[in-house]
Amino acid sequence: MGQLAFHVAWRRATHGGGVSLLTFTDLTEDLAKRLPELRGRLRANAQLSEITWFRVGGPAQILFTPADEADLAYALKNIPPDWPVFVLGLGSNLLVRDGGVPGIVIRLGRGFGQIEVLDGQRLRVGTAVPDVKVARAAADAGIAGLHFYRGIPGSVGGALRMNAGAHGGETKDVLESARAVDRQGNIHDLSLADMGFSYRHCSIPREFIFTSATFKGSAGDTTDIQSQMEEVADYREQNQPIRERTGGSTFKNPPGMSAWKLVDAAGCRGLRVGGAMVSEMHCNFLINDAGATGEDLERLGETVRARVKQQSGIELNWEIIRLGDPKEGRPVGAELALPAEADH
Ligand SMILES: Cc1cc2nc3c(=O)[nH]c(=O)nc-3n(C[C@H](O)[C@H](O)[C@H](O)COP(=O)(O)OP(=O)(O)OC[C@H]3O[C@@H](n4cnc5c(N)ncnc54)[C@H](O)[C@@H]3O)c2cc1C
Repeated sequence: MGQLAFHVAWRRATHGGGVSLLTFTDLTEDLAKRLPELRGRLRANAQLSEITWFRVGGPAQILFTPADEADLAYALKNIPPDWPVFVLGLGSNLLVRDGGVPGIVIRLGRGFGQIEVLDGQRLRVGTAVPDVKVARAAADAGIAGLHFYRGIPGSVGGALRMNAGAHGGETKDVLESARAVDRQGNIHDLSLADMGFSYRHCSIPREFIFTSATFKGSAGDTTDIQSQMEEVADYREQNQPIRERTGGSTFKNPPGMSAWKLVDAAGCRGLRVGGAMVSEMHCNFLINDAGATGEDLERLGETVRARVKQQSGIELNWEIIRLGDPKEGRPVGAELALPAEADH
């Protein structure tokens, strides 16, 4: 097979109503030729703003939805090694930049949506399953300990990558094992110890794509678990802007401290940049409340980081993953004189 060159070139095209859209070079045909046995779907210039919670940012050069784990492994084996690949969950912890995402964005769909109840209070689920469905399936099967997933709006894949947690429970407390495919298309069975979980972090290499997970709880009563889930849902409704376009907690809590208290003390509650605002309800949440761009949100986050640093001396780290290129190559927040953080 000959070399398949990766082009990042993009252009702006003006569409009906004068809306200017960014589009990348369409490489889907070239890629499909290289992957004749592919069963999943390739889409050029897919708007990630339609499938992420913040509803901002540019397109993915190629959005790939694999049919199942074998299809994903086949694709990863055959996609040229220099092509960038990123996997997306439900986009509830992601800020997509306005310049879009060059390369391939993978979104797991129906082929990763199975839920199986196993013996010994265990559940095996595909990584496209929303966390809330994990909580419901566990409750129905009388498996206690997974009710906290009721409040987390991501998928199982995102929960594994972020060690998602809430209300005293974390993924690391309930995971037994997981499966993943690496960038070369090899399948790995991973134990809990392999995952290297810590606060909102998993040590498995970034290029690994999780495909399924087995959770283990303890024996419980369905009605009791359901009432715990209702408590979680009520708490969220009253304390977090869950109906807004948001990405959840913006910054990780520094050891022994609450990020929201530092943001509040720095006077940032309600702070605005363009169409982006620090939530009045929970000031570790940013919201897109008035047609924000990715740049507005990132600039607002960087402004908050700079003010917190100035006021308390503490450097907040982003929990939200920022993905893709800034608009027309212009970095955001460089003028705020904060050290840049590692990024996608
Ligand atoms: C209103 C709201 C409330 C929230 N509350 C909480 C909370 O209480 N606790 C909490 O922990 N988080 C919370 N979050 C953040 C978010 O829901 C979690 O981080 C969640 O686990 C992200 O899952 P996702 O599927 O949306 O992942 P995405 O946001 O799509 O991606 C997040 C990361 O996971 C990676 N990823 C996704 N799928 C896979 C996969 N299959 N294999 C490998 N990597 C993958 C992505 O590459 C990316 O690095 C909240 C978010 C919102 C919007």
